[in-house]
Amino acid sequence: MIELPDVERMIDAFAGYATGKTVSVVLVDDDETVDLESDRVEEHIQGHAIDTVERHGKYVVLRFRSEVSLIFDMGSDGEVYLESQTAPPRETSKIRLQFAAGRELRFASSSNGGDVYLLEGEDLSGLGLFDNLGLDPLSEELTAPRFIALARDKSRSTLKGLLMNEEVVAGIGNEYADEICFQASIRPDCKMADLTDEQLGQVHKYLRRVLRRATLHWQAAHSDPGWLINRRRPGHTCPRCMTELESLSLVGKRTYLCPRCQRAA
Ligand SMILES: [Zn+2]
Repeated sequence: MIELPDVERMIDAFAGYATGKTVSVVLVDDDETVDLESDRVEEHIQGHAIDTVERHGKYVVLRFRSEVSLIFDMGSDGEVYLESQTAPPRETSKIRLQFAAGRELRFASSSNGGDVYLLEGEDLSGLGLFDNLGLDPLSEELTAPRFIALARDKSRSTLKGLLMNEEVVAGIGNEYADEICFQASIRPDCKMADLTDEQLGQVHKYLRRVLRRATLHWQAAHSDPGWLINRRRPGHTCPRCMTELESLSLVGKRTYLCPRCQRAA
Protein backbone atom coordinates (compact mmCIF):
# COMPACT_ATOMS: atom_id res chain seq x y z
CA MET A 1 0.00 0.00 0.00
CA ILE A 2 1.31 3.41 -0.99
CA GLU A 3 1.95 5.80 1.88
CA LEU A 4 3.31 9.30 2.08
CA PRO A 5 7.03 8.39 2.29
CA ASP A 6 6.66 6.19 -0.82
CA VAL A 7 5.20 9.09 -2.78
CA GLU A 8 8.00 11.38 -1.59
CA ARG A 9 10.57 8.85 -2.76
CA MET A 10 8.99 8.58 -6.20
CA ILE A 11 8.91 12.35 -6.58
CA ASP A 12 12.54 12.61 -5.49
CA ALA A 13 13.51 10.12 -8.16
CA PHE A 14 11.99 12.01 -11.11
CA ALA A 15 11.38 15.65 -10.14
CA GLY A 16 14.97 16.78 -10.72
CA TYR A 17 14.91 15.34 -14.22
CA ALA A 18 11.39 16.31 -15.24
CA THR A 19 11.18 19.84 -13.86
CA GLY A 20 11.70 22.39 -16.62
CA LYS A 21 11.47 19.76 -19.37
CA THR A 22 8.98 20.01 -22.21
CA VAL A 23 6.56 17.15 -22.80
CA SER A 24 6.63 16.36 -26.49
CA VAL A 25 4.01 13.60 -26.69
CA VAL A 26 1.32 12.28 -24.35
CA LEU A 27 0.35 8.61 -24.69
CA VAL A 28 -2.75 7.35 -22.90
CA ASP A 29 -2.55 3.57 -22.41
CA ASP A 30 -5.76 3.12 -20.44
CA ASP A 31 -8.44 5.31 -21.96
CA GLU A 32 -11.14 3.68 -19.84
CA THR A 33 -9.93 5.27 -16.61
CA VAL A 34 -7.86 8.13 -18.01
CA ASP A 35 -10.58 10.41 -19.27
CA LEU A 36 -8.73 13.40 -20.73
CA GLU A 37 -10.06 15.34 -23.68
CA SER A 38 -7.44 15.08 -26.39
CA ASP A 39 -7.75 18.69 -27.50
CA ARG A 40 -7.04 19.89 -23.95
CA VAL A 41 -4.01 17.61 -23.80
CA GLU A 42 -2.76 18.93 -27.12
CA GLU A 43 -3.36 22.52 -26.16
CA HIS A 44 -2.07 22.54 -22.59
CA ILE A 45 0.38 19.68 -22.14
CA GLN A 46 2.01 18.71 -25.42
CA GLY A 47 4.75 21.22 -26.17
CA HIS A 48 4.65 22.64 -22.64
CA ALA A 49 7.18 22.39 -19.85
CA ILE A 50 6.64 21.01 -16.35
CA ASP A 51 7.08 23.90 -13.93
CA THR A 52 6.94 22.17 -10.54
CA VAL A 53 6.15 18.81 -9.01
CA GLU A 54 4.15 18.75 -5.80
CA ARG A 55 2.61 16.23 -3.46
CA HIS A 56 -0.78 16.75 -1.82
CA GLY A 57 -1.44 13.84 0.49
CA LYS A 58 -1.00 10.87 -1.84
CA TYR A 59 -1.70 12.86 -5.01
CA VAL A 60 1.19 13.78 -7.31
CA VAL A 61 0.64 17.13 -9.02
CA LEU A 62 2.59 18.18 -12.13
CA ARG A 63 2.13 21.89 -12.66
CA PHE A 64 2.80 23.02 -16.24
CA ARG A 65 3.97 26.44 -17.36
CA SER A 66 0.79 26.57 -19.44
CA GLU A 67 -1.01 26.94 -16.09
CA VAL A 68 -2.63 23.54 -16.10
CA SER A 69 -1.97 20.76 -13.65
CA LEU A 70 -1.94 17.06 -14.30
CA ILE A 71 -2.86 15.18 -11.14
CA PHE A 72 -2.26 11.49 -10.42
CA ASP A 73 -4.22 9.79 -7.66
CA MET A 74 -1.78 7.19 -6.36
CA GLY A 75 -4.55 4.98 -4.93
CA SER A 76 -3.14 1.97 -3.15
CA ASP A 77 -0.43 0.91 -5.61
CA GLY A 78 0.20 3.78 -8.03
CA GLU A 79 3.68 4.50 -9.28
CA VAL A 80 5.16 7.44 -11.17
CA TYR A 81 8.59 6.77 -12.62
CA LEU A 82 11.01 7.55 -15.43
CA GLU A 83 11.70 4.98 -18.09
CA SER A 84 13.30 4.77 -21.50
CA GLN A 85 10.78 5.22 -24.33
CA THR A 86 11.92 1.92 -25.81
CA ALA A 87 10.96 -0.11 -22.73
CA PRO A 88 7.52 -1.76 -23.12
CA PRO A 89 4.88 -0.22 -20.82
CA ARG A 90 3.52 -2.27 -17.93
CA GLU A 91 0.09 -3.84 -18.23
CA THR A 92 -1.12 -1.40 -15.59
CA SER A 93 0.20 1.65 -17.46
CA LYS A 94 -2.22 4.58 -17.45
CA ILE A 95 -0.41 7.40 -19.16
CA ARG A 96 3.08 8.28 -20.42
CA LEU A 97 4.59 11.72 -20.96
CA GLN A 98 7.45 11.67 -23.43
CA PHE A 99 10.37 14.06 -23.39
CA ALA A 100 12.52 14.77 -26.42
CA ALA A 101 15.57 13.22 -24.79
CA GLY A 102 14.26 9.66 -25.18
CA ARG A 103 12.89 9.13 -21.69
CA GLU A 104 9.33 9.33 -20.48
CA LEU A 105 7.45 9.80 -17.23
CA ARG A 106 5.04 6.96 -16.64
CA PHE A 107 2.09 6.53 -14.33
CA ALA A 108 0.92 2.99 -13.64
CA SER A 109 -1.72 1.75 -11.21
CA SER A 110 -3.80 -1.40 -11.04
CA SER A 111 -6.11 -0.45 -8.23
CA ASN A 112 -9.00 1.70 -7.24
CA GLY A 113 -7.87 5.25 -7.35
CA GLY A 114 -5.27 5.51 -10.06
CA ASP A 115 -7.24 8.34 -11.64
CA VAL A 116 -5.70 11.12 -13.71
CA TYR A 117 -7.09 14.66 -13.70
CA LEU A 118 -6.34 17.72 -15.78
CA LEU A 119 -7.07 21.03 -14.14
CA GLU A 120 -6.82 24.48 -15.69
CA GLY A 121 -5.69 27.46 -13.64
CA GLU A 122 -3.44 27.74 -10.63
CA ASP A 123 -6.09 27.00 -8.04
CA LEU A 124 -6.26 23.28 -7.36
CA SER A 125 -9.48 23.54 -5.41
CA GLY A 126 -11.52 23.49 -8.65
CA LEU A 127 -11.74 19.72 -8.74
CA GLY A 128 -12.83 19.37 -5.14
CA LEU A 129 -10.23 16.61 -4.80
CA PHE A 130 -8.42 18.13 -1.87
CA ASP A 131 -11.42 19.66 -0.09
CA ASN A 132 -11.68 16.86 2.44
CA LEU A 133 -7.98 16.13 2.58
CA GLY A 134 -6.56 16.61 6.06
CA LEU A 135 -3.33 18.32 7.01
CA ASP A 136 -0.08 17.08 5.58
CA PRO A 137 1.76 15.32 8.40
CA LEU A 138 5.08 16.79 7.32
CA SER A 139 3.82 20.37 7.05
CA GLU A 140 4.48 23.00 9.70
CA GLU A 141 0.72 23.38 10.08
CA LEU A 142 0.43 20.11 11.94
CA THR A 143 1.61 21.33 15.33
CA ALA A 144 1.05 19.31 18.49
CA PRO A 145 -1.85 21.51 19.72
CA ARG A 146 -3.49 21.28 16.29
CA PHE A 147 -3.11 17.51 16.25
CA ILE A 148 -4.53 17.19 19.77
CA ALA A 149 -7.51 19.37 18.79
CA LEU A 150 -8.15 17.21 15.71
CA ALA A 151 -7.94 14.08 17.85
CA ARG A 152 -10.40 15.52 20.38
CA ASP A 153 -12.93 15.96 17.56
CA LYS A 154 -12.79 12.21 16.89
CA SER A 155 -13.22 10.94 20.42
CA ARG A 156 -14.87 7.68 19.31
CA SER A 157 -12.14 6.76 16.85
CA THR A 158 -9.33 4.37 17.67
CA LEU A 159 -5.80 5.74 17.51
CA LYS A 160 -5.08 3.82 14.32
CA GLY A 161 -8.39 4.95 12.83
CA LEU A 162 -7.42 8.55 13.51
CA LEU A 163 -3.97 8.19 11.94
CA MET A 164 -5.44 6.59 8.82
CA ASN A 165 -8.29 9.08 8.49
CA GLU A 166 -7.43 11.06 5.34
CA GLU A 167 -9.70 13.88 6.44
CA VAL A 168 -7.61 14.42 9.56
CA VAL A 169 -4.05 13.70 8.42
CA ALA A 170 -3.36 12.91 4.77
CA GLY A 171 -1.14 10.11 3.53
CA ILE A 172 -0.71 7.66 6.40
CA GLY A 173 -1.61 4.07 5.62
CA ASN A 174 -1.56 0.75 7.40
CA GLU A 175 2.16 0.13 7.87
CA TYR A 176 3.23 3.59 9.03
CA ALA A 177 0.20 3.86 11.32
CA ASP A 178 1.39 0.71 13.09
CA GLU A 179 4.96 2.03 13.21
CA ILE A 180 3.87 5.34 14.74
CA CYS A 181 1.84 3.55 17.44
CA PHE A 182 4.77 1.24 18.16
CA GLN A 183 7.32 4.04 18.41
CA ALA A 184 4.96 6.03 20.64
CA SER A 185 4.45 2.89 22.82
CA ILE A 186 0.65 3.12 22.63
CA ARG A 187 -1.74 0.41 21.46
CA PRO A 188 -3.38 1.23 18.09
CA ASP A 189 -6.78 0.09 19.36
CA CYS A 190 -6.91 2.73 22.13
CA LYS A 191 -9.95 4.98 21.91
CA MET A 192 -9.13 8.66 21.48
CA ALA A 193 -11.36 9.59 24.41
CA ASP A 194 -9.12 7.53 26.70
CA LEU A 195 -5.82 9.14 25.71
CA THR A 196 -4.37 12.06 27.62
CA ASP A 197 -3.02 15.20 25.96
CA GLU A 198 0.43 14.02 26.94
CA GLN A 199 -0.05 10.71 25.13
CA LEU A 200 -1.43 12.49 22.07
CA GLY A 201 1.61 14.78 22.16
CA GLN A 202 3.74 11.64 22.12
CA VAL A 203 1.84 10.30 19.09
CA HIS A 204 2.34 13.63 17.31
CA LYS A 205 6.06 13.59 18.00
CA TYR A 206 6.54 10.07 16.62
CA LEU A 207 4.17 10.67 13.70
CA ARG A 208 6.54 13.43 12.50
CA ARG A 209 9.66 11.51 13.40
CA VAL A 210 8.66 8.24 11.70
CA LEU A 211 7.44 9.88 8.49
CA ARG A 212 10.37 12.27 8.23
CA ARG A 213 12.86 9.47 8.71
CA ALA A 214 11.07 7.18 6.25
CA THR A 215 11.03 10.03 3.73
CA LEU A 216 14.63 11.17 4.10
CA HIS A 217 16.30 7.86 4.89
CA TRP A 218 13.97 5.23 3.51
CA GLN A 219 16.62 2.56 3.10
CA ALA A 220 17.99 3.01 6.62
CA ALA A 221 14.52 3.06 8.18
CA HIS A 222 13.54 -0.10 6.34
CA SER A 223 16.57 -1.97 7.57
CA ASP A 224 16.49 -0.56 11.12
CA PRO A 225 16.29 -3.51 13.53
CA GLY A 226 14.38 -1.27 15.96
CA TRP A 227 11.49 -0.68 13.56
CA LEU A 228 8.31 -2.73 13.64
CA ILE A 229 7.77 -2.23 9.91
CA ASN A 230 10.44 -4.81 9.15
CA ARG A 231 8.82 -7.48 11.29
CA ARG A 232 5.18 -7.28 10.28
CA ARG A 233 4.64 -11.00 9.79
CA PRO A 234 2.76 -13.62 11.79
CA GLY A 235 4.90 -15.23 14.49
CA HIS A 236 7.55 -12.51 14.48
CA THR A 237 8.75 -10.92 17.69
CA CYS A 238 8.98 -7.35 18.98
CA PRO A 239 12.25 -5.68 17.99
CA ARG A 240 12.62 -4.31 21.54
CA CYS A 241 11.54 -7.02 23.95
CA MET A 242 11.29 -10.12 21.74
CA THR A 243 7.70 -10.82 22.86
CA GLU A 244 5.68 -12.36 20.06
CA LEU A 245 3.78 -9.65 18.16
CA GLU A 246 0.01 -9.53 18.48
CA SER A 247 -1.98 -9.35 15.27
CA LEU A 248 -5.53 -8.07 14.98
CA SER A 249 -7.83 -6.44 12.47
CA LEU A 250 -8.39 -2.70 12.90
CA VAL A 251 -9.94 -0.26 10.43
CA GLY A 252 -10.26 -3.31 8.19
CA LYS A 253 -6.47 -3.73 8.11
CA ARG A 254 -4.09 -6.34 9.46
CA THR A 255 -2.45 -4.66 12.44
CA TYR A 256 0.68 -5.65 14.35
CA LEU A 257 1.66 -4.50 17.82
CA CYS A 258 3.72 -5.53 20.82
CA PRO A 259 1.39 -6.40 23.72
CA ARG A 260 4.20 -5.62 26.18
CA CYS A 261 5.78 -2.41 24.84
CA GLN A 262 2.53 -0.76 23.73
CA ARG A 263 0.26 0.25 26.56
CA ALA A 264 -3.47 0.69 26.64
CA ALA A 265 -4.54 4.21 27.61
ZN1 LIG B 1 7.95 -5.27 22.88
